[in-house]
Amino acid sequence: MNKGLLRLFSLLVLCAMLGGYVTCADEEMPEIIYIDLGIIPPNMNVHSYLVEVDDGYIIFDAGYDLNVMEKALLEKEISPLDIQYVLLTHSDYDHVASLPLFANAQIFMSEDEMQMVNGTTKRTVEGIGLSLNLLPDDVNLDEISLLHNGQLLEFGEHIIECIKVPGHTPGSMAYVLDDKYLFTGDAFAVENDTMAIHPYTSDIKAAVNSITKLRDLKNESELVLTAHYRSYSPKDLKYDAMIKLQK
Ligand SMILES: [Zn+2]
Repeated sequence: MNKGLLRLFSLLVLCAMLGGYVTCADEEMPEIIYIDLGIIPPNMNVHSYLVEVDDGYIIFDAGYDLNVMEKALLEKEISPLDIQYVLLTHSDYDHVASLPLFANAQIFMSEDEMQMVNGTTKRTVEGIGLSLNLLPDDVNLDEISLLHNGQLLEFGEHIIECIKVPGHTPGSMAYVLDDKYLFTGDAFAVENDTMAIHPYTSDIKAAVNSITKLRDLKNESELVLTAHYRSYSPKDLKYDAMIKLQK
């Protein structure tokens, strides 16, 4: 493991220690298939979410390990080749590693995240540069569809609104599915059921603004779906105005 990866790993460990994990129940979200990708050390749950569309699926985020993802999908009797659309919340390794599995899919990501994967901008935490967030080799960057804030995607009967939530990374993106489900990726951590600044954040000020934006969005949603914590109904996920003082 090179130095950059080692530092990234250490920060993810720290993130996990702050968060803990709880898996979410399928019955909370009947239209959404919950893909449990297990736990990465020491104690961070990772998951993706699928939504059926036309003859296949949309997937939100692509996990930390290709084999783990393949096994988790097969357990649900889903072939990776049936994934039609991949919506990335950002480009950290635990959200992109399985992309090569989805050979038939169109990949979407924020236009502001391209700098993280094309060698332009290093991953930073509070201004300190770490490694580049390179995508798996088989992914052709030219074929990634880049999204802007407020863009609407129409997949079959589903409509997805793309919301820029920079902070964790410059191009972090949240998605609202059918005005009901809010997918937040790592735009915030959760501590004591309260939205908090992720410990591995590029830009704290931007993250605070994004969390405030997400607070308003969550109150208009039916369910908030995070990448490493459980899913929350809006009333169960608190917002603390003192969040700026937290780290
Ligand atoms: Zn993550």
